[in-house]
Amino acid sequence: MNDGIGDLTAQAPRTLGKALLYGRRALALRCPTCGITPLFSSWKKVGSLSDWFSPSDGCPSCGYAFEREPGYFLLAIWGVNYGVVALGGMVLYFALRQWTEWSPRLIFCLTVLPSPLLSILLARHAKSFFLAMDHFCDPHVRHKKRRENIE
Ligand SMILES: [Zn+2]
Repeated sequence: MNDGIGDLTAQAPRTLGKALLYGRRALALRCPTCGITPLFSSWKKVGSLSDWFSPSDGCPSCGYAFEREPGYFLLAIWGVNYGVVALGGMVLYFALRQWTEWSPRLIFCLTVLPSPLLSILLARHAKSFFLAMDHFCDPHVRHKKRRENIE
């Protein structure tokens, strides 16, 4: 039942256009709901590497909470970040083995050694895409209390 209160765009049906919109916002590291607020602080404002990897608490423009619960972004790191880097490295390794005459040692060095650095570089985008996917598949909508319940 829709009580007429809340984020109506999040309740609208899932469409390809909405998925692409959320994907563009995730690529730009922006709030998936409004696309205005950056998810992460800039280099100049962070005090440590940990702060650089940590998203803000929420969006001051639309009120969307980025971290729903403690450990929320754990799946983003293990599923999205590690999955993309490991699967991409494996696919590239076997593709180079199949289509080049390079030595397996050289191919291994080219595909596996950059993985830790790639994983660090993609960590913020993994969290951003995970947040966008989660908002697309399971949007959390803030409902205000009904007036009759308050009185
Ligand atoms: Zn927002």
